[in-house]
Amino acid sequence: MEAQKALLTGYYAKLGRARAEQRPVVYTFVPGNLVELLEAFDVAPVYPEVNALQSAMRQRSDGFIREAERAGHSEDVCSYVKCDLGMAMKGNIGPTGEAIPPPDLLLLSFTGCFTFMKWFELLREQYGCDIAMLHVPYQGDGEVTDAMRSYVVEQLQREVIPKLEKLTGRRLDLDRLRALLARSRRAEEDLAWVFGAARRRPSPIDAYFGGVYYIGPIFTAFRGSEDACRYYAQLRGEVEARLAAGEGPITPAGPLDDQRHRLVIEGPPNWTSFRDFWKIFYDEGAVAVASTYTQVGGSYERGFRHDPARPLESLAEYCLTCYTNQSLPRRAAIVADMIREYDADGFVIHSVKSCNSFSAGQLHMLREVERLTGVPGGFIESDLVDGRYYGQANIKNRIESYLQMLTARRPAARPAEEVRP
Ligand code: SF4
Repeated sequence: MEAQKALLTGYYAKLGRARAEQRPVVYTFVPGNLVELLEAFDVAPVYPEVNALQSAMRQRSDGFIREAERAGHSEDVCSYVKCDLGMAMKGNIGPTGEAIPPPDLLLLSFTGCFTFMKWFELLREQYGCDIAMLHVPYQGDGEVTDAMRSYVVEQLQREVIPKLEKLTGRRLDLDRLRALLARSRRAEEDLAWVFGAARRRPSPIDAYFGGVYYIGPIFTAFRGSEDACRYYAQLRGEVEARLAAGEGPITPAGPLDDQRHRLVIEGPPNWTSFRDFWKIFYDEGAVAVASTYTQVGGSYERGFRHDPARPLESLAEYCLTCYTNQSLPRRAAIVADMIREYDADGFVIHSVKSCNSFSAGQLHMLREVERLTGVPGGFIESDLVDGRYYGQANIKNRIESYLQMLTARRPAARPAEEVRP
């Protein structure tokens, strides 16, 4: 957690210097981002969703959202969008207090959510800069075809790379891109190993509340960097030590060794009350052994790796296989697979008001996962960065009742004489 915070602080400080260092600035989004390609051109990436969630963790998002609503953005609009627009209206000061420079280019590579397109239309209006659009076909039938892959590669060649070349005045160095992708792959191996460690009992990690710290660097500006390789090697080392000692993950209240419930969690977390939200689970001895949110910026747990031998194809496959680009039946199948693979007792769906990309169809998904696994699911609702929609007492009540129900369903321990050979 501390290493991740240090990386993030360094990132915002570097961003604050981008103008002085004459580094072009490109805004882009997390799911389906092309950070290795941006780094190959030495441009500085900005992730508006990350700014929003970091602002929320510092209790600044509600003010930004109100600012955007006063300017006419509806209550129904995604709170990430309003937080970002409100932040821009208040001087575009980022979560760590550094000013975020305006974009020189908007790189609209995204998966699964139409809101991203409207978001960048608003930013283009505001900043008057160009957009490079990468259209990633939705996995409607639950698979990536050759035609989809070629379609994305062709757009990289005809649209995205030429616009980055024009912006920076230099040609793409393919060898540099390959070297960046090789480092991404190294970090991805370590991250996937860490998530796989949750198969053990007790689980040495919390794959949701701890998981958001694990994915931070690799989902954003650090993929392809030596910093990311070091971070994931260190993380793996820590988790290996916990496994060897039979220890659980560290929570704000200390180690969670007494694990009474193993859960799979679907949906993004709430960021305005992240610690209180987490507490509801660890107070009840509930550990997340897997989650879907940690696959939004890359399906590493499901086997995806960047491949330096096929740089553009590999970037295309990365975009196509992000969790939010999967169809609803496929998402239900992924959750059901994780329940079996990680030997989970239950699963919880956290439905956020803001995000149609995640929330549409989740009630249907609940029933489908129950049908596929025979495991009953829990359902809670709040929001990403709009604190008005987070109700601690209500969520706590629901989670406690759900966990009690899971306990009541367990077969009673048999008397000692029955289990004698
Ligand atoms: S609706 Fe969801 S996926 Fe789309 S921008 Fe908002 S949080 Fe992201």
